[in-house]
Amino acid sequence: MPHQQTQAIRIQTQRTNEMEHSTPMFLTSSFCFDNAEEMRAAFADESDDNIYSRFSNPSVQEFTDKMVALEGAEAGYATASGMSAVSGSFMAILKQGDHLLSCNSIFGSTHTVIAKYLPKFGIEYSYVSANATEADWKAAIRPNTKLIYLETPTNPGLEILDIAMIGKIAKENKIIFIVDNCFATPVNQKPIDFGADLVVHSATKWIDGQGRVLGGVVVGKKELVKEIYLFCRSTGPALSPFNAWVLSKSLETLDVRMERHASNALYIAQQLENHPAIQTLRYPFLESHPHYNIAIKQMQNGGGIVCFELKGGLEAGRNFLNNLKMLSMTANLGDTRSIASHPASTTHAKLSDAERAAVNITAGLIRISVGLEHRDDILNDILQALN
Ligand SMILES: *Cc1c(COP(=O)(O)O)cnc(C)c1O
Repeated sequence: MPHQQTQAIRIQTQRTNEMEHSTPMFLTSSFCFDNAEEMRAAFADESDDNIYSRFSNPSVQEFTDKMVALEGAEAGYATASGMSAVSGSFMAILKQGDHLLSCNSIFGSTHTVIAKYLPKFGIEYSYVSANATEADWKAAIRPNTKLIYLETPTNPGLEILDIAMIGKIAKENKIIFIVDNCFATPVNQKPIDFGADLVVHSATKWIDGQGRVLGGVVVGKKELVKEIYLFCRSTGPALSPFNAWVLSKSLETLDVRMERHASNALYIAQQLENHPAIQTLRYPFLESHPHYNIAIKQMQNGGGIVCFELKGGLEAGRNFLNNLKMLSMTANLGDTRSIASHPASTTHAKLSDAERAAVNITAGLIRISVGLEHRDDILNDILQALN
């Protein structure tokens, strides 16, 4: 089997009669049949022929095949956004009376789906903290727990959860285990190797890597992916072939991009760690990170995100953003352009102080998505804004 870098580049739809070198884009809603018998067979699931792009599309399949290869999965299904991969997985797997156990440090919209919408369908949930021990996780399992869900590293707190430890508990209790691998990407962390049954992604972030399109994907065990596929093909969150084409091209450079994002981020983290305006700084591959030992066990590098807490809280956070000259103030992450955000005044402004504290979001927390600009230009902009 070729190396993952090669697969991310060389997996491609079959060359057409035009003999194109780069991959073509199949911007079509439906597909034709030569005769009535072929069409009948396709609808009867007797052939794998494409019928309609809500079900399948060659550009979408190419992106999916690459993600399946990179994650070491059996099968996959690509969706219109990360949230449709998350919510489609929940809806396909859970039923009335089931219980979902999740870490409480999760993406904001994932929390909304779990806490607001799943209960409408009679699905229970409970949370444990990112610092939960093996005993805490075990104690949180109920007889009706069907799914364990987590994100690592977490957004925006950068906590690291032990995938192997939680995977083992899931397996012992015959619980389906889903990991959101958005922050690490498969070139940095492969949750399936540590016991995940399914891996979900927002492809909008590092996978696109250039802030252009929304996309999502879920990969993992064949029989589970089949259920998710059947749910999604009926409910409609299909990935656009245009977005799939963009994302498939992006995967060709994911490995080299992530290497540079991570080396830039490590440099920035090291340079800022002892800055007088910074109370604490977090980066998974700094020994000062509270979960450093778990990070080096399951990740290849520390990723592209650095977080720090400013002395001076909310006002200091707002001042910092206002004084930046180059870094972008925007809600995305995982871009060639470095991005700064201040969760307490933006994405998590609606939470109470206590709710924010429970997920480690303090008033002065700044999240930097470290881009691919020269590392000293990124650092200098941060330093001048801190001063
Ligand atoms: C952005 C994000 C999502 C949601 O993805 P969308 O593509 O925006 O729908 C899910 N999980 C994590 C960790 C994210 O950062």
